[in-house]
Amino acid sequence: MTRPTTRPTAASAALFERARAVTPGGVNSPVRAFNAVGGTPRFIRSAAGAWLTDVDGNEYVDLICSWGPMLLGHAHPEVQARVAEAVARGTSYGAPTEPEVELAEEIAARAPVERVRFVSSGTEATMSAIRLARGFTGRDVVVKFAGCYHGHVDSLLASAGSGLATFAVPGTPGVPTSSTELTVVLPYNDRAAVEKVFAEHPGRIACLITEAAPGNMGVVPPEPGFNEFLAATCRANGALFVSDEVMTGFRASRFGQWGLDGALEGWRPDLVTFGKVMGGGFPAAAFGGRADVMSRLAPEGPVYQAGTLSGNPIATTAGLTTLRLATDEVYAHIGAAAETIRTAAADALTAAGVAHVVQSTGTMFSVFLTDVAAVRDFDDASTTSAPAYAAFFHEMLERGVYLPPSAYEAWFLSAAHDDRAVSTVLDALPHAARAAASALESSQ
Ligand SMILES: *Cc1c(COP(=O)(O)O)cnc(C)c1O
Repeated sequence: MTRPTTRPTAASAALFERARAVTPGGVNSPVRAFNAVGGTPRFIRSAAGAWLTDVDGNEYVDLICSWGPMLLGHAHPEVQARVAEAVARGTSYGAPTEPEVELAEEIAARAPVERVRFVSSGTEATMSAIRLARGFTGRDVVVKFAGCYHGHVDSLLASAGSGLATFAVPGTPGVPTSSTELTVVLPYNDRAAVEKVFAEHPGRIACLITEAAPGNMGVVPPEPGFNEFLAATCRANGALFVSDEVMTGFRASRFGQWGLDGALEGWRPDLVTFGKVMGGGFPAAAFGGRADVMSRLAPEGPVYQAGTLSGNPIATTAGLTTLRLATDEVYAHIGAAAETIRTAAADALTAAGVAHVVQSTGTMFSVFLTDVAAVRDFDDASTTSAPAYAAFFHEMLERGVYLPPSAYEAWFLSAAHDDRAVSTVLDALPHAARAAASALESSQ
C-alpha cells in the first residue's frame, strides 16, 4: 500500500528496496516494516533529544523512543561520554567487570530483587526466568495471558486452545506443539480463569508469567489488586510469580510497575525480568528475584544459563548511567508531558467524533480507537479500528510526529520532550483525529 506524502521519502524508499533484497521484509524486527499502517518505513539517520531525522532529512518528534529504552532522550551527552570512555577501554572481555556489579546494585536498590543475572535481550530474560522457575519447582506447566508479549520464546508464542485452561497451540509456524503443550493462555484481568487453571493442574504449574502492566496490546493496566492476587495465588499453589517488567521497568515509574502497585499493595514477585530502559539503548536485559531461587542458577546451582556478551561493559555502562540520571524529576517531567498529550489526544478525538479509550499506567499510555468502554484484555484491545489508526498514524507522520506503526503499542516519551516537541504533537492531533474520522466513515 502506498500513501500520498508531501514529505520526501525517496531515500527511505531506495534503502527499503535494497533492504528487502537482503533481509526478510527489509527489517530486523517485524513492526518496523509499517505492514499494519502501510506506506514506506522511514530509515533513520540520526536522533537527538526528542527528535529523529530520517535519511531524506525529515525531522519527527519521536513517540517510540526505541520502544521504550530512550528514557532520557536520544544522544544524551552524559550517556554518550560514559560510553565513549568505556569504548576506549575495550568493548568486551568475557570476564567480570565493575559496571556489572554497579548496575546489579542499582537494579536491586529499585526493584524487588535480591540477585540479578544479565543477558542481552528481553527474550533471553523471560526464557531464562522460565527455565529457572521450572528448575526450581521441578514442575513443567507455564501460565501466561493472551496479549502479553514476553519476547519470541517458543513456549510463550502460544495462543489459547479451544476453551479455558486447556493447553495452548503454537502462535506461529516453526514452534512445535511440544513447545506449547505445557503452556496455558488465559484472558488478562480474569481472576476466575486463574483460579480455575490452578485447580485443574494441581502440583503441575511451575510459574505464572505476566507483564507487570501489559503494554504490548496497548496499555492495559492491571485492575486494582490483580498482581497481588496473582502473587498470592502462585504462593498458595507452590508456583512462582514471574513479573515481566522488560517494558515497564524503570519506565512506568522509577520503581517500574511494582513501584505503582506492588510497593503499595505489598506483593513481591518471585522473579522479575528487565530490559529496554536498563540497557540505555544498548542490548542489555536481566532477570532477578529471590535469593533462594536465583541461587539455583549456574554456577551456584544446577540450572544452566550463560551468554558470551552478557553484562557487556559498554551496555552496562550505558544502562547504569541512564538509571543514575533517571531521577524523580525525570519521571515527573515525563508524567506531565504524557498527561498533556493524552488529554489533548482524547479531546481531539472527541471533537472529531471518533470513539476512543485512553489508558495509562504511570508515565506509559496508549490510545485505542474503539467504542468499548474500557480495554481490560486482548479481546477488548482487538476491537481497535486498524484503518482509523493507519489514517491517524500517517497524518501525524506528515506533521512531524513519529508514532508506533501499530495500533497495539504504548506511546513513549522522554526527559527530552520539551515544549517545542510537545506542541508539535498537540498541533498535529486535531488533524490526525479528523483523518481517523474520515477513515471510519469510508470503511462503513
Ligand atoms: C520488549 C519486551 C520483551 C522482549 O524484549 P526483547 O529485548 O525485544 O527481546 C519481553 N517482554 C516485554 C514485556 C517486552 O515489552
